[in-house]
Amino acid sequence: MTKAIICRVALAIPLHKQFDYLLPEYLAADFLESEQLLVGCRVRVPFGGKRQMVGVICEVNPELDYDINKLKKITQLIDTQSLLSEKLSTLLRWAAFYYQHPFGDVYQQAIPTALRQGKEATFKGSEHWQLSQSVKADLPEGKAFNLDDFKRAKKQHQALILLGQQCLSTSELKTQGVTRVTLKALQDKDVLTSLDKQPNINLNWLENFEESTEKPNLTSEQALAITAVNQQNQAFNCFLLEGITGSGKTEVYLNIITPILARGQQVLLIVPEIGLTPQTVQRFQQRFNVPIYLKHSALNSREQLDSWCHAKRGSAAIIIGTRSAIFSDFKDLGLIILDEEHDASFKQQDGFRYHARDFAIKRAHLEQIPILLGSATPAFETLHNALQGKYQHLHLTQRPGNAIPPSSSLVNLAGLHLQAGLSPQLIELMGKHLEKGNQVILFLNRRGYAPVLMCHECGWLVKCGRCDAFYTYHKSANYLHCHHCASTLPIPHQCNDCGSTQLISTGVGTQQLEETLNTLFPDHPTVRIDRDNTRKKESFNQYLTDINNGKYKILLGTQMLAKGHHFPDVTLVALIDVDGALFCNDYRASERLAQLFTQVAGRAGRAEKRGQVLLQTHHPEHSLLQELVNSGYAEFSRHALTERQLAQLPPFSFQALLRAESDNATLAESFLGLCKQIITQITVLNKIDSRLFVLGPIPASMERRAGKYRFQLLLQSDHRALISKTLNQALPSLDKLPEGRKVRWSIDVDPIDFV
Ligand code: ADP
Ligand code: ZN
Ligand code: ZN
Repeated sequence: MTKAIICRVALAIPLHKQFDYLLPEYLAADFLESEQLLVGCRVRVPFGGKRQMVGVICEVNPELDYDINKLKKITQLIDTQSLLSEKLSTLLRWAAFYYQHPFGDVYQQAIPTALRQGKEATFKGSEHWQLSQSVKADLPEGKAFNLDDFKRAKKQHQALILLGQQCLSTSELKTQGVTRVTLKALQDKDVLTSLDKQPNINLNWLENFEESTEKPNLTSEQALAITAVNQQNQAFNCFLLEGITGSGKTEVYLNIITPILARGQQVLLIVPEIGLTPQTVQRFQQRFNVPIYLKHSALNSREQLDSWCHAKRGSAAIIIGTRSAIFSDFKDLGLIILDEEHDASFKQQDGFRYHARDFAIKRAHLEQIPILLGSATPAFETLHNALQGKYQHLHLTQRPGNAIPPSSSLVNLAGLHLQAGLSPQLIELMGKHLEKGNQVILFLNRRGYAPVLMCHECGWLVKCGRCDAFYTYHKSANYLHCHHCASTLPIPHQCNDCGSTQLISTGVGTQQLEETLNTLFPDHPTVRIDRDNTRKKESFNQYLTDINNGKYKILLGTQMLAKGHHFPDVTLVALIDVDGALFCNDYRASERLAQLFTQVAGRAGRAEKRGQVLLQTHHPEHSLLQELVNSGYAEFSRHALTERQLAQLPPFSFQALLRAESDNATLAESFLGLCKQIITQITVLNKIDSRLFVLGPIPASMERRAGKYRFQLLLQSDHRALISKTLNQALPSLDKLPEGRKVRWSIDVDPIDFV
């Protein structure tokens, strides 16, 4: 009888715990010599009753304090060697530790769905579509297909236009707004045929590697930045490319990619959720004749797997993807670029709450390769590291050519008659721009901001008597709340300064605004772009096309509209409500406002037409606004950083947030109270209680969401490691709290959103 081999397996379950299984005897013999080979292999195992789950082996023959006869057997050994490279596995273990998230779940999120389900890690190929032979035969030589027959069925018409030129995959068509239902309908009419295309596995792309000769003459700033990176691209170096909107950051990316590809290494480009448009990809395809693959959530599971395999085998030279692409396994990764590095979509906001930028830097460090972060509005964390000299700071301060930067101005809202938040000045200005045939963008920026109560006549705000902070307005309850000391105040009915009874809360409703716009400008169609109506990638791309075709004249939106899209006909941009961000209890609100303002201003009048930017506020004298409008983000951010330093806020300190929510407010609050006790005890024992503060529990800014009461407990320290170590020690006890089973709770390390 062979010796038993016990495998400790991580499963995607919300417990910080792993489970032991026996390797079946017929397999054990193969691995007796080198048990370590099993680590990193996926397995299928029985779990709780009849369920089978896919997990990964983390340890072989761990020390046991129980009878192994009780162990269940592994049902199937899926891989014969570790699925992921050693470096990537190491990074995932670090991430599980750092973000306090169960390793089994981290691992599962890092691999494509098909692999999560236990499928084999090989190429799958994908469904493609082409015009049927019969149809082609009917066509006279060189003539286009008679499309008029399909004029009435718009989607079918569109599909045929696209497929008239070339054969496309289901998902390529999907990103153009053509669904499989439409394709099936055309197949039923014998117009289209589907085929299974095997992926083209080109491992030798280097042999024919060429860079297009069609490229602009670099500006001197671009040349400097490129040289700096290219001279140090053989080892770990983190670069921040701070370049104003339209300054040609992408051109820099292309030029630093060239030498990496030329030596046969692969490149990973990460872009925000919405930044990944066909135009982005085209720019890279036009420059390099190498295989480029995408990695984003709109791909189906076969395509995800193919893209993953291309990266791992080396048949992808460039991977362009959103947040989760940072987990791609590469044969030989040589460079990581993170575009719009300040973007909030890089932080996953539920479950495994990692930040793709931080993971990327950690990864570049471990792989000993360069990483470049690009933005017009760097996150304060990044900027701080660059200013301290931890990252190399590169600058683009000019736009190539003679594009004129937009002009910006403030409108004082105090006492004005507003229509759904619009001032008479703005309405008049909109009319002028629209009459000239131009487009207008209106920004409503409410995500992430807690409302405050303000006097509409004079701008007075209700301030906490004990703190340097404004009260947060809770619509559901009849009181105001200080998020710093937890004191409350009944809602006042009169302004303390001018006696006016016109007290308003910041934050305008999108729907109300949309209706008002339709009444004010019936001849200029409005489109609303926000997370709710653009959840699907294809619908967002459709909107972009419609906007550029001039179908819509007024674009009403949130941050999504600010992300690197070029709208050449937009000449007026207005931020409707900036006060919410100025006085919000979330210290990041002003950073976000400044980023939004700058990005948005970059949308206006990028081409020959000069743009105009308008900010509506009750506080035009506010130093932040003055600085932004007069000096720009670079200066504002450096000033704001010194304020953060004075307040000892991130990036000058580090935070973690424990959240709990429940139908019952007391349960959520008291659970966090218990957490606080446990955590405080640990800090006292470790003698770090003077360096790690625990604040709360306090209600979240949005105290109730979807019927649940929400509370928070904040940990803050001047030292990152103190937080992770403390939480790691506390976690087993927190997991065991019976109160924890009655609430939904989570840990968010380096939180960016406090709402
Ligand atoms: P960013 O990403 O910094 O907003 P882009 O890379 O999109 O800017 O560049 C803005 C525009 O300027 C693009 O149309 C690009 O083709 C053009 N451009 C970039 N570099 C140069 C250059 N050196 N000379 C002329 N045009 C350039
Ligand atoms: Zn207070
Ligand atoms: Zn007043």
